[in-house]
Amino acid sequence: MAGAAARAADPQASGAVEIGTARGVPGQKVRGALKVAETADGTPYDLPIAIVSGRKPGPVVWVNAANHGDEYGGVRALQQVVRGLDPETMSGTLVAVMIANPPAFQGLQRVNPSLDDLSDMGDAFPGRADRFATERIAAAISAQVRAKAQYFIDLHTGGDRFRQHPFVFYTLTGSVPAERYDDLARSFGVETLWRDTEKVFPSDAVTTFAAAGVPGFLLEVGGGQPLDPADLRLQAEAVRGLLRRVGVLPGRPTLLPRYTVVTGYRVVTNGRGGFFEAAVKPGDRVREGSLLGTIADAHGDTVETLVAPAGAQIVLGVCTYPAAPTGGWLLELGTGLTETRVAPAAVGGR
Ligand SMILES: [Zn+2]
Repeated sequence: MAGAAARAADPQASGAVEIGTARGVPGQKVRGALKVAETADGTPYDLPIAIVSGRKPGPVVWVNAANHGDEYGGVRALQQVVRGLDPETMSGTLVAVMIANPPAFQGLQRVNPSLDDLSDMGDAFPGRADRFATERIAAAISAQVRAKAQYFIDLHTGGDRFRQHPFVFYTLTGSVPAERYDDLARSFGVETLWRDTEKVFPSDAVTTFAAAGVPGFLLEVGGGQPLDPADLRLQAEAVRGLLRRVGVLPGRPTLLPRYTVVTGYRVVTNGRGGFFEAAVKPGDRVREGSLLGTIADAHGDTVETLVAPAGAQIVLGVCTYPAAPTGGWLLELGTGLTETRVAPAAVGGR
C-alpha cells in the first residue's frame, strides 16, 4: 500500500493511474478490477474499472456508477462516456467504476442484501475498513479517490421504482471554495442544481470528499423502467461537460442561460397503504397545498390525498411503482428555490 500511495502522491507527474489490476497507460483505455470483498464461498466482489488516460497529463476525474445496486441508468451512461472518449485528444484521466456496489447490484436491489449489512452506500462514507461489507467497500473507494482523484462524480438514478428530475447535488459544507464549486456544477449543463449548505447527507460520498477538498457531485437522472435512452444521453453528456470544464476534454462546456438552485428537500410518504397515483411529474413546480397524488384502497376508493407541505416548490422525484404500503418513498420535493442567470458572454457550447 505504501508503494501505491507514493505513486499516487503526484498522479499528474506520470500521467498513469493504477487502481487494482487496472493500470493506466497514456493514450489508452484499459480495464481491470479492484477486489473489495468476498462472497461466503470466497468468490471475489470486484469493482469493474475502466481507466482512460489522455495522451497528455492533467487532472484525474473519478466517476462511480451503481453505488445503489438498482440504478442501472448510471452504468449505461458511463459505458457511453468511456466508449466515446478518444484518449489521444484528452489531457488527464477518467477513472470509471462501472459498478461501485457489487453485492447490491448482484441482488438487483438498492442495498447489499446480506442480513448482516443492509446499509445504504449513500450513508456509508467515508467507510470503515474493519466493519460491515458496504462500509468496507466505501472505505476502499474513499482511499483510492483521496489518493488519486481531483474530482469525483457519483452517477445516481431513481432506481427501479422511482423517477428523478435531473439535478446536480453538491455541498458547500466542505473545504471547496463556493465560487469554484458553483462554477464546476454549472458545467454539467443540467438546469437544476441542489446547492446544499446544511450537510443534508453527512455520510454520502460527495459530502465526505468535499470535506477532504475534492469537489464531488451527485448527478441524479431518471430511473424507473424501462431505461430511457434520453436519460442516458443526458447523464453521459453532463459528465462530458465537467470533463471539458476541467480540461480533460478539449472544448468548452455547454452552459445554460439560467439555473434553478434548490437548497433543501422534503420526502412525502403515505399513511394509508394502497395504490399510488401521482398527480405531478418530476420537474413540476408546486407550492404548499398542491395536489401531489392519491392512495386508493383495494376497492379503488380514495383513502388518502397527498398535498405539498410548506416550503415545497419543485418535484424532484416521483415513485413509479403502483402499490405502496404505509411509509412509501413516494415523492421528493425541493425547497428554497432561486433562479440564477448566467451572463450571456459566458453561455455557449463547444
Ligand atoms: Zn442512488
